[in-house]
Amino acid sequence: MATISSSRSSFIHGQWTANDSALLYGIADWGKGYVGVNSEGHLTVLPSKEPGKQIDLYEVIQGLRERGIHTPVLLRFNDILAHRLREIRRAFNDAINDQGYTGGYSCVYPIKVNQQRHVCEQIASLAVELNFGLEAGSKPELLAVLGLSAGAGGPGVNGMPIICNGFKDSEFIETVILATKLGRNIIPVVEKFSELELIVRHAKKYNVRPKIGLRVKLSSRGAGRWEGSAGVRSKFGLFVSEVIKAVDYLRAHGMLDCLNLLHCHVGSQLYDIRVLKNAVNELAHIYCELHQMGAGLTMLDIGGGMGIDYDGSQSAWSSSINYTVQEYAADVVYRIKAVCDDNSVPHPTIFSESGRAMVAYSSVLVIDVLGTSRFEADPNLPNVEAVIAAQEAAGNEVPQPVRDLLGCYRNLTDRNITESYHDATQARDEAMSLFSLGYMSLPLRAISEQLFWAIGHKILDRCQKRGEVPEEFEALPEALSDIYFCNFSLFQSMPDSWAIDQLFPICPIHRLGEIPTRRGILADITCDSDGKVDHFVDKRIDKKILELHEVKDLPGEGAGVEPYYLGVFLLGAYQEILGDLHNLLGDTHAVHISVNERGDWEITEVIEGDTVEEVLAYVQYDPEDLKRAMRLDIEVACRQGRLTLAEGKSLLKYYDDGLEGYTYLEE
Ligand SMILES: *Cc1c(COP(=O)(O)O)cnc(C)c1O
Repeated sequence: MATISSSRSSFIHGQWTANDSALLYGIADWGKGYVGVNSEGHLTVLPSKEPGKQIDLYEVIQGLRERGIHTPVLLRFNDILAHRLREIRRAFNDAINDQGYTGGYSCVYPIKVNQQRHVCEQIASLAVELNFGLEAGSKPELLAVLGLSAGAGGPGVNGMPIICNGFKDSEFIETVILATKLGRNIIPVVEKFSELELIVRHAKKYNVRPKIGLRVKLSSRGAGRWEGSAGVRSKFGLFVSEVIKAVDYLRAHGMLDCLNLLHCHVGSQLYDIRVLKNAVNELAHIYCELHQMGAGLTMLDIGGGMGIDYDGSQSAWSSSINYTVQEYAADVVYRIKAVCDDNSVPHPTIFSESGRAMVAYSSVLVIDVLGTSRFEADPNLPNVEAVIAAQEAAGNEVPQPVRDLLGCYRNLTDRNITESYHDATQARDEAMSLFSLGYMSLPLRAISEQLFWAIGHKILDRCQKRGEVPEEFEALPEALSDIYFCNFSLFQSMPDSWAIDQLFPICPIHRLGEIPTRRGILADITCDSDGKVDHFVDKRIDKKILELHEVKDLPGEGAGVEPYYLGVFLLGAYQEILGDLHNLLGDTHAVHISVNERGDWEITEVIEGDTVEEVLAYVQYDPEDLKRAMRLDIEVACRQGRLTLAEGKSLLKYYDDGLEGYTYLEE
């Protein structure tokens, strides 16, 4: 059913239901129970996967509009975040219980994945409940984490675990040592040997017994995009020879009991569970040997990398994963237990730094469509005939390629599809060269394009009636797809789509009870030709178009189009902080949505997006200077009579309002 939706599908409009849309967009595959459709044809979010508690996204957007908050808007669902954290906790608890594992488990959230205060504060408070912790990878992150963990869980060893990765200077380590004295359960992980020397020096100076972690360079390779995070050539961690040297060094300083944690991180979005199993296996072996050498090891940190099934295919490729949270937990616990049991070493507390897996599901961006551009001619081509007749009447010769295209268009049958396609392509190319050489007028060039598109659509129609698009025409749906211009910046809101071809599920949030009759790609409002989405999630294929609904122009010239909203999902991890100010398009509004006891949604937080003033200030413009300069210029123009006073006043008002306004288009 899903595969043959198209502009000229044989579906009778009345028969299409929201369920057909759910299938078409693969909502159950990538939504994993967090996303659904309701009888009104609206997309819903089920923050705790309970069918009784659904948030109607279209209703939320309407509600926000009524409050003056316009798209693009990022919706954060705190309840999804909580549900994810509990799911990870439960998966490890189950694995631990099922396998008779005697150590514990804790997930530390690497704040680099999304440092937004509201997100981190929620995680920090859940961390107290779930015995989770926080991870910092740089000096600013350390300072944020120290603040976030203040008062959480009380001081001492029972306090929230804080893991410090990344490169550290003397000041960083001094801060960590003093924070230990303060009572924080903080573990600096040594990335390079000199950090260990600093730890020992500052620990002695302040008379602190720190908890020390070592990051090891494993020989197991990572896989996929982040394979460089692991392996002996990785930029992080100690060679095994240095690990042994570290043991000797700590022993010499009477601090071998402080070596408490062993760490590795084999990369993000590990799509193949085997990579993780190999790494954990190797790490566990090193752990056991160091334990036997007398290190005070009690914690094994397997790093991040738990992936997300972005495309819903449950397969081992970069936008997907071939395992579930439960399998991940079971495999990790099993490997560690097996190796420790073989070596008669007590089971360590397992740490994972699963950032992406915690937060990806909780944010959804909603964007509005501003207009479309279509690659098609009027089906009856009335103006083609008229233009040709007019050319002939004016005594102008109609060039052969145009005649050929018209012939192809009129004579296309099931039998001559391939031949017609080749003829049409050739005629179109010839027409374009004639134009470039100055032998064809602009109206005739326009006619050639129209005819070519019309032929393309006719061919697609026929293929679709047969139920398949032969290989020769594979590029046609893409070449003929519409462009939907959307009010957002790809570089700000989904940078990984641009940087690493990451796929994110995209789906209209309403009209799902209607058959989507168009195929399109999405373009953003930056003036960068890379600012487009032309790959879409699908379980089976590399999908280059998205099925979309027709958007009608509103009556009145320049009135825009009727509202049409798309949701972009799984944006909670990395996208917000990696987003940039390309074209000075700033942060979008972010709104936190929760479900209350009665099952109604409510807004719990509104974080307004950047204003134009703010992004300009970021690049060192002073809004006051700008206004002053404009005012002077307008003053002169008024004096010289180029602008009336009223016009000058209006222009200045637009300028002032513009500076205070949203960086995105507003209605
Ligand atoms: C980035 C990073 C993580 C988080 O990885 P995810 O793939 O988001 O789970 C964890 N640990 C370290 C050391 C990292 O650099």
